[in-house]
Amino acid sequence: MKNIAVLGSTGSIGLSALEVIRHFPEKFRVIALSTNSNIELFERQIKEFRPEFACVSDTAAGKRLKAVKKTKIFFGEGGLEKIVQEKNTQEVLLAISGSAALLPLIKAIEANKQIALANKEALVMAGPIIMNMMVNKKASIIPVDSEQSAIWQCLEGHKSANLKSIYLTASGGPFRKTSKKKLEGISLAEVLKHPKWKMGRKITVDSATLMNKGLELLETMFLFNVQSEKIKILIHPEAIIHSMVEFIDGVVIAQLSATDMRIPIQYALSYPERFANSLPTVDFYKLKELHFEKPDFKKFPCLKLALQVAAELGTKPAVLNAANEVSVREFLNRRINFVDIPRIIERVLGSHRNKLKPDLADIIDADSWARLESYKTIGELS
Ligand code: NDP
Ligand code: MG
Repeated sequence: MKNIAVLGSTGSIGLSALEVIRHFPEKFRVIALSTNSNIELFERQIKEFRPEFACVSDTAAGKRLKAVKKTKIFFGEGGLEKIVQEKNTQEVLLAISGSAALLPLIKAIEANKQIALANKEALVMAGPIIMNMMVNKKASIIPVDSEQSAIWQCLEGHKSANLKSIYLTASGGPFRKTSKKKLEGISLAEVLKHPKWKMGRKITVDSATLMNKGLELLETMFLFNVQSEKIKILIHPEAIIHSMVEFIDGVVIAQLSATDMRIPIQYALSYPERFANSLPTVDFYKLKELHFEKPDFKKFPCLKLALQVAAELGTKPAVLNAANEVSVREFLNRRINFVDIPRIIERVLGSHRNKLKPDLADIIDADSWARLESYKTIGELS
């Protein structure tokens, strides 16, 4: 029986994780749940899973939460940090979106926890610091993001010195076949219709701009300690191959499975075991073909920006992430157009003075600076 803290339990990944946990009552127990502000759903989750701890990050929303017997409830951001450090918490599933996951991740590492990491923004912001913290710690990070889970599974048992390159696959998003010109008038509804994955709104927008793949490029570099030159982004519309690794002898190992996040979530929770389940599987007779394309950097400038940032590092990844978070939020609020997203990020990156080898305080400073600068840039657009 493993005690799991599901942080971000009211989100897309959180809900899928609770579904996985529901199927294995003899293997997993929910020790903690967290939400930002979705109190109605959160109350139902608490009633069902009876966790020891719960946290509502948005204190104002938290006032609506009724007291529950035997569940200690925390309010505000500090609550997440307490939950991850609880001694009975064995594995932390970090499914909070955005930069809010950074401090809980750091606290979970300090407390030597096993971490199932779905959130990518924290790693993008502070990858080298996080990975350095892991040295000399008993903490471990098991990737949940499907591509990272794939790479991790393909690399298992192999020497990193033998790795030649990583093929980071991408479905291509809803606009793979849309012309650059047409993107200028694209609506929010069109952006939110992802062809392959059903996800939270922020990552769905990132998938449409391909910034999601840009963030994953940085995520891959940090998690597996590889240079960006070794990572090849490969558009693969069927989203059946979740990524591949190529070794120096020309052998390629790929990880394939159905397009369903419950699969990598389950493995991150069951690892090192594999549990039989009734999740969808790949039917190769029906599938028949798999397709591959090069990404179009001109049509998707976010990808190009991420590539430039990957070559520079320092505080730039944190700035890229913050400018993207602000731009996506403002796009979701219908204050800017789809094509403004890369424009804003490019301008903010352009006025940032990069600090190489940053510490955590530098990262947090760069993040705050980039958020302000992004709002300023948005103001200048209109
Ligand atoms: P959602 O937006 O669906 O859910 C986010 C969760 O985090 C919700 O529980 C939300 O609470 C909570 N949350 C949001 N902001 C804060 C905050 N400031 N403080 C505390 N809690 C907060 O996101 P997803 O589930 O889609 O994604 C979660 C993470 O996993 C992201 O980093 C994403 O990139 C990554 N990921 C997601 C995939 C997917 O298929 N969805 C695939 C691979 C990676 P509330 O409900 O109150 O808003
Ligand atoms: Mg992914």
